[in-house]
Amino acid sequence: MRRPLIAGNWKLNKTIKESRQLSMQLIDELSNITDRDIVIAPVFTALSTVSEIIGSSPIQLAAQNCYPTTSGAFTGEVSPLFLQDAGCRFVIIGHSERRQLLHETNAFINQKLIAVIHAELTPILCIGETLQQREEGQMLETLTRQIEEGLAGLTADQMATVVIAYEPIWAIGTGKTASSEQAQEAHAFIRELLQELFNPTVAGQTRILYGGSVKPENIDNLMAQKDIDGALVGGASLKAEDFIRIVKFL
Ligand code: PEP
Repeated sequence: MRRPLIAGNWKLNKTIKESRQLSMQLIDELSNITDRDIVIAPVFTALSTVSEIIGSSPIQLAAQNCYPTTSGAFTGEVSPLFLQDAGCRFVIIGHSERRQLLHETNAFINQKLIAVIHAELTPILCIGETLQQREEGQMLETLTRQIEEGLAGLTADQMATVVIAYEPIWAIGTGKTASSEQAQEAHAFIRELLQELFNPTVAGQTRILYGGSVKPENIDNLMAQKDIDGALVGGASLKAEDFIRIVKFL
């Protein structure tokens, strides 16, 4: 069975001091949880501090982005090697905010994904359609392109570590959640695609998270869906109480 994973994407929020406080609050309430993965993604500058605080607790660390080349003359960039050095186990790749604001392409995202796998970290590959693409009937085509190009060149063995996050862009930070049925439909489609591109084992094992205005009020229904294996949580991961309740989904 697929182990549930709840990840909090803190985006560009929380100073080092605030990150320390929030991590300590999470540890207090979540240290006994053993049946699901819990991941938090603070800003780069807080990674080392948070890594020391979470220590051997069940909470694991993620970065929100990376650069695909290991080291060298790449001013301002951070590669998977340095993220691993700071204590990360996961890296979020291809978040829609980066696709939209920084014009990241599927080809560039694919390079990052491969670099993350080579560094023995777990990539969380974000995909999702805009409202316009959904309304114009291009949702499945968009998801197919993001998956095919984002996962290009990967072997079935390498796929064992990849996590996919389906995040419809119209649901991110808008308070508008996809209904559980809409999310399940997209997740089932992604799983079918993985079966075609790789094999039934990969399709059955890959964890597919839902992201887009996940809250304490909707997590239980989302997690009850057959193909939803967890959540990538933005806004609600900034409040300890909300994130704790989401991690403790029923
Ligand atoms: C996200 O940033 O990945 C996200 C899903 O944000 P929110 O939960 O705020 O919609």
